[in-house]
Amino acid sequence: MRTISHFINGQSVTGTGAVTSPVFNPSAGQVQAILEHGDAAILAEAVAVAKAAQPAWASINPQDRARVIFKFKALIEKHRQELIHLMSSEHGKLLEDAMGELQRGLDVVEFVCGIPHLQKGEFTQGAGPGINVYSIREPLGVVAGITPFNFPAMIPLWMLAPAIAVGNAFILKPSERAPSVAVRLVELAHEAGLPPGILNVVNGGKEVGEAITDHPDIKAVSFIGSTGVAKLVYARGAGNGKRVQCMGGAKNHGVILPDADLDQVVADVLAGAFGSAGERCMSMPVIVPIGRKTANAVRERLLKEIPKLRIGVSVDPDAQMGPVVTPEHKKKIECYIQLAADEGAELVVDGRGRTLPGHEEGFFLWPTLIDHTTPSMRSYQDEIFGPVLQIVRAETFDEALSYPNLHHQGNAVTVFTRSGDWAQRFVAEVAVGMVGVNFPMPTPVGYYCHGGWKDSAFGDLNQYGEDSIRFFTRTKVVTQRWPHCRPAED
Ligand code: NAD
Repeated sequence: MRTISHFINGQSVTGTGAVTSPVFNPSAGQVQAILEHGDAAILAEAVAVAKAAQPAWASINPQDRARVIFKFKALIEKHRQELIHLMSSEHGKLLEDAMGELQRGLDVVEFVCGIPHLQKGEFTQGAGPGINVYSIREPLGVVAGITPFNFPAMIPLWMLAPAIAVGNAFILKPSERAPSVAVRLVELAHEAGLPPGILNVVNGGKEVGEAITDHPDIKAVSFIGSTGVAKLVYARGAGNGKRVQCMGGAKNHGVILPDADLDQVVADVLAGAFGSAGERCMSMPVIVPIGRKTANAVRERLLKEIPKLRIGVSVDPDAQMGPVVTPEHKKKIECYIQLAADEGAELVVDGRGRTLPGHEEGFFLWPTLIDHTTPSMRSYQDEIFGPVLQIVRAETFDEALSYPNLHHQGNAVTVFTRSGDWAQRFVAEVAVGMVGVNFPMPTPVGYYCHGGWKDSAFGDLNQYGEDSIRFFTRTKVVTQRWPHCRPAED
């Protein structure tokens, strides 16, 4: 059985610690590798190495750092097929999804290839008589990232690329459920010329995550995962005096106005709710059609389309949805489906209780459709993170708007309409961080920033884009005056 371990100081570090956990192949429903967990001592070793290596890396001129990032980008492109197979074999996502994910990560690597420009400070001449003011963006030192299972390549790239581009050393703790692709990416960064010690992986779970939030030499922590853990990491890291940004969970709504193009809506909702088996922070697990006529029309079309969705193993080129990540996660989703029925919602299509012929052990669920969901239901308030679509019916625009606005999560939302007036009002009044207009899963492009509101994000700077440059640097502002100093005349 393959063992997955850490990568510290430019090399693989194996045989550590007594704690291990299984890494599944969700399509086969079998353990395919064993992950060795680190602990506080291994983390401390990685931090010490990173701390020693960082000053030399930071002193390299930014164009030379950018050249390493350019090579890294080229190597990721060269190894695209290997990387997408690695991630889909552990996560279960389809190869096409994995390809899209990798490209989203590459977008951020490309963005930070412009680091000589992005890291420039500001300059004001003549702020006072003979006075100039300028700012410098310095790296923080050693920084860290803790990442979730659902984007095992993209999210590590979102964090590590800007962190190292500005001159930090970085410690990555990938999800214990899909760790291999992150280790491979870090190997490729070294092949690209990154000096040893600048990018390190310490694998494990909660214990390593907590050690990261406690270690005094780690100056900033970037976290993405569930809201419960995001809150803990934020409180603990900030309490320890670190800079912390924590992106949490999501419950993204799609609000459907009566004038919307329903063919487009249904195609978008199917992709938004069931793509990647619903295991996306940008997925669309709730729709809010306005008016009975709209709700019934959407429901009818979904009922026609859902049975046509092809469920298959992650390497099946014809499949539209793969398995979920682990048996525990499958069980959790099934419990939420039952909870929704017990709470009084209508289980219109039940995706439980089926197996894929030839892959009976795989962690497959079929799409589930639930109607007449109400805001007081726990199955609505909680993030299910699986292929489950809930319909919440609204009578008016104001009522529909109130659902994403009152929900404790505020990651993303989409409005479907042909009316510019209604769309603009929606955009202005909705209390959510990322908004789509006739656009499901509105993940911002790599030169904007990604982050939600309310329980979906803690901390005030978002992922990638210019926020990431600010997050991973600290600003020094210099006010200077050079008195005239001419040689005295005889
Ligand atoms: P999770 O919270 O279970 O784990 C995330 C990471 O935190 C893992 O690496 C885990 O080992 C680590 N961890 C667990 N306990 C910890 C602790 N006490 N201290 C420090 N680290 C700890 O999340 P997951 O199930 O891997 O990922 C799915 C979740 O991530 C969903 O809620 C999803 O919405 C969210 N997510 C959010 C975004 C976003 O941008 N907002 C993006 C992707 C995923």
